[in-house]
Amino acid sequence: MSRFDGWLPQATRYDTPHYDARPGPLPADVTLLVVHNISLPLGWFGGPHVSDLFTGRIDYNADPSFADLRGLKVSSHFFIRRDGRVIQYVSANERAWHAGRSCFQGREKCNDFSIGVELEGSDFVPFEVAQYAALADLAVALLGHYPLTDVQGHQHIAPGRKTDPGPCFDWDFFRKLLNKKASDEPALVAAIAGLRVVKGVPQSQ
Ligand SMILES: [Zn+2]
Repeated sequence: MSRFDGWLPQATRYDTPHYDARPGPLPADVTLLVVHNISLPLGWFGGPHVSDLFTGRIDYNADPSFADLRGLKVSSHFFIRRDGRVIQYVSANERAWHAGRSCFQGREKCNDFSIGVELEGSDFVPFEVAQYAALADLAVALLGHYPLTDVQGHQHIAPGRKTDPGPCFDWDFFRKLLNKKASDEPALVAAIAGLRVVKGVPQSQ
């Protein structure tokens, strides 16, 4: 079996310089899926700015709020648009820069061992069913290549500092969609059933 290159064929690929090598062994160390939300400007959907931010091309003059983004070098592995289309910026074998200062089960620097998925959205607006469906598809596809054990929100691994994906993300609905997927993927039934999905509460501190 040839080694998986970390790029999912169902995603549209946009390359970025915002990544580096994971420090741990592949694929064994990639165990965590982190869910985020982002929109640029905040609350505006569509447009090029999120991809421009993640690929180092953002026009800081396009909106007054973008001044705060100056000098920020960030990325994620995946971005799910409101209609469920998936964009991939970084191979899942590499380290994307999405989590920042973070800690999960006592281990810091979650970027080292996680895959980051940004949903186009905000803390204030419900997410689209197409986005949950795309996220569930993505999680199942990744389980075919990585021994993921947990799904967390950015808010859970960086409490007090981050609030996304926020109170509008329905963790129970996502878990239900995952359970449904298990019936289509007999080889992955155990992996899907074993994936621990964080509950939406508490959004602590
Ligand atoms: Zn985030």
